[in-house]
Amino acid sequence: MTRTTRTSAPHSCDVAVIGAGVVGCAVARRFALAGASVVVVERGADILSGASKANSAILHTGFDAPPGSLELDLVKAGREEYLSIHRDLGLSIVKTGALVCAWTDAEADGLAAIAGQGRENGIADLDVIDATAVHALMPGLAPEVRAAVEVRGEHVIDPWSAPLAYVTQALALGAKVWRGCELLSGRFDGDWLLDTSRGGLRAGAVINAAGLFGDDVDRRLGLAPDFTIRPRKGQFIVLDKAAARHVPKIVLPVPNEITKGVVICPTAFGNVLVGPTAEEQDDRTRATVETATLEMLRDHGGRLVPALRDIPVTAVYAGLRPGTEKKHYRVTARTESRAITLGGIRSTGLSAALGLAQHALRLFEAFGMPLGPPAAIPPVTVPNLTEAEPRDWQRPDHGEIVCHCEMVTRREIEAALAGPLPPGDFGGLRRRTRAGMGRCQGFYCNARLAEMTRGRFRVPLAVEPEG
Ligand SMILES: Cc1cc2nc3c(=O)[nH]c(=O)nc-3n(C[C@H](O)[C@H](O)[C@H](O)COP(=O)(O)OP(=O)(O)OC[C@H]3O[C@@H](n4cnc5c(N)ncnc54)[C@H](O)[C@@H]3O)c2cc1C
Repeated sequence: MTRTTRTSAPHSCDVAVIGAGVVGCAVARRFALAGASVVVVERGADILSGASKANSAILHTGFDAPPGSLELDLVKAGREEYLSIHRDLGLSIVKTGALVCAWTDAEADGLAAIAGQGRENGIADLDVIDATAVHALMPGLAPEVRAAVEVRGEHVIDPWSAPLAYVTQALALGAKVWRGCELLSGRFDGDWLLDTSRGGLRAGAVINAAGLFGDDVDRRLGLAPDFTIRPRKGQFIVLDKAAARHVPKIVLPVPNEITKGVVICPTAFGNVLVGPTAEEQDDRTRATVETATLEMLRDHGGRLVPALRDIPVTAVYAGLRPGTEKKHYRVTARTESRAITLGGIRSTGLSAALGLAQHALRLFEAFGMPLGPPAAIPPVTVPNLTEAEPRDWQRPDHGEIVCHCEMVTRREIEAALAGPLPPGDFGGLRRRTRAGMGRCQGFYCNARLAEMTRGRFRVPLAVEPEG
């Protein structure tokens, strides 16, 4: 087969990626690097409009992934690639390490098995340590802790800048990102003819990375999905930055069959998270928070790390995991119709995204579809928003500071608005700059942000007074 130029539809590409969550962004980058012309079709006003906008931001090692699973392989591959490219992309990483803490004798008895599974999974850098060693690493933990597995390779990252960097690199290689564009239907007649809310798109192959709508998108493409999405909500509280000195490490519970459990976790931005819960629900879009659950999380955090009782809550949020009726990833390649579904990327997608993208390219190779020559890696960097590296406000010429809680400068906001993929909505601006994400949650800076973004977003930050 020779490489074709698909000109009979108004727009054409080698590969259409449906969904710009972290998985779709990573896939777009990987295929663009492999020489494919790529169009990403995203229903939301901005990238990261689904599951990827709210998670715990842990870059997992895979120590607790099911042995022998695709998920384990892809978490490890994704993490390894992240570690090899993060500096070039300007992505920082916080090397916290994690403690899987046992709070009862029964849990302590289970730690050796957890460490054993971790080693079986190829993660050598972990040990069972006793209570004295646990307290030496994290003096703020309650005295009741019995022992822990120390997993030194678990890290936290900025969960929004990473996918932004991936998709920006794809853009630099000529990929297109159609935001506010819904995939309506598609049919394969040797090429894919996709009907979107923006018109027709002809594509050589299609990759479904639609997260919480993975089964729905398969159906719209006329592919019988082999899974049903069952959203699983996770609620969080975000504690003020004063909490960070009490929580230098990720504190994990001994997991059960359903969930990794409630975690106490430093963030790359200097806060501490307590969450997530694991609550099945039917709604795929609304992730509400409930007072009783938030109080439970607050109480939980204070019991495990007593100093957290006195630290104010900065924010609360909830995210939805694209779970299915089974625990494993639901990845399918259909060679006869050149379609790949990356479904059910439930709770490790941030870590596995780059690995999933590598895997999708391997599956694609079986389609026998030629691509252009692999591209040189374009130099793309995203601004640092984490506490791990110096921020813009720390430079002597920083100019106006717009958000005083998160110390966001005017020029950081202007740079985001003028960037290669400017935010499509206010949430996107927050994720690109952290403006409005601090203690006051935008109370003091929203007026200035509304002024700076006037006319840019379909839903403005503030409605102009009439008259
Ligand atoms: C509470 C919680 C905690 C988590 N913690 C971690 C963690 O610490 N570490 C980790 O590695 N992972 C974690 N995860 C998992 C991770 O967030 C997910 O695995 C990942 O976000 C899934 O990404 P995705 O790209 O598959 O899906 P999504 O982010 O949902 O992206 C799919 C995109 O497709 C779009 N779309 C859907 N239908 C259409 C259509 N018809 N047309 C066009 N576009 C469409 C959506 O708008 C959406 O933007 C967590 C998840 C949650 C919810």
